[in-house]
Amino acid sequence: MTGDRLTLKFFGVRGSIPTPVAANLGFGGNTTCLEIQSGNGDRVVIDAGSGARNLGLERIARRDLDVDFWLTHFHWDHIQGLPFFAPLFSSGACVRFHAPKSASATRRHLERQFQEPYFPGRDGIAAVQEFVEIDNKTAKQGGITIHPFELNHPQGACGFRIEAGGAAIVHASDCEHGDPHYDKTLRDFAQNADVLIYDGQYTPEEYAAKAGWGHSTWLEATRVAREANIKHLILFHHDPSRSDAAVEAVVESARERFPNTDAAREGWEIRI
Ligand SMILES: [Zn+2]
Ligand SMILES: [Zn+2]
Repeated sequence: MTGDRLTLKFFGVRGSIPTPVAANLGFGGNTTCLEIQSGNGDRVVIDAGSGARNLGLERIARRDLDVDFWLTHFHWDHIQGLPFFAPLFSSGACVRFHAPKSASATRRHLERQFQEPYFPGRDGIAAVQEFVEIDNKTAKQGGITIHPFELNHPQGACGFRIEAGGAAIVHASDCEHGDPHYDKTLRDFAQNADVLIYDGQYTPEEYAAKAGWGHSTWLEATRVAREANIKHLILFHHDPSRSDAAVEAVVESARERFPNTDAAREGWEIRI
């Protein structure tokens, strides 16, 4: 790891609902969760969709039980992995939840997932849990700097620009384009980033029927990437209906407008 400024690993890349069907497994069916690590080992985890289960198993295997989740918002596809996140049930673990709500609201929202009749195992939680409000100011976690910013999404969502060692990764999901204030904010925070992870849930044709649902398109992703001088664009939050072949087709179209485009894939690790 030494020498890398930031390492990014995807544990879940799907939007809306897990889709573990054969046609999707190349890119992956788990909902959103990714881990970013700096060269000196500081880490942040963005979101706790169903992909968080595999992250938890990896952390248990390494006995690496100090976890900081940075939650974009509380829609199910971004928190539904928590009841199956093994470190929560391990004594000696410390799990911190940073979210764009007050600490007490975050605790309340997350605890609801473990309540009867939705889940049987709340009594088994053994980790120390902490809840921290993201207040739109720049935050530090070890050597990592995190700049939160607001995204255009029903009930709100938080984007992050994450920097360490001169590298920058911008996470912008879930978000819808078209509002001049939010469009400008995103471009300002994304400026000159090495990697932009962007909500490319819809094709432009699909978007026509889904305006107002809070998601964007691969076409808009390429516009943001060009206008913000991004080095590498990663399409993210794949629609549940998008098969591997359909994701490949989307990437091909996007590359005609922004050549260094990829689609996020479960298990993929990138070092910058
Ligand atoms: Zn979502
Ligand atoms: Zn959402």
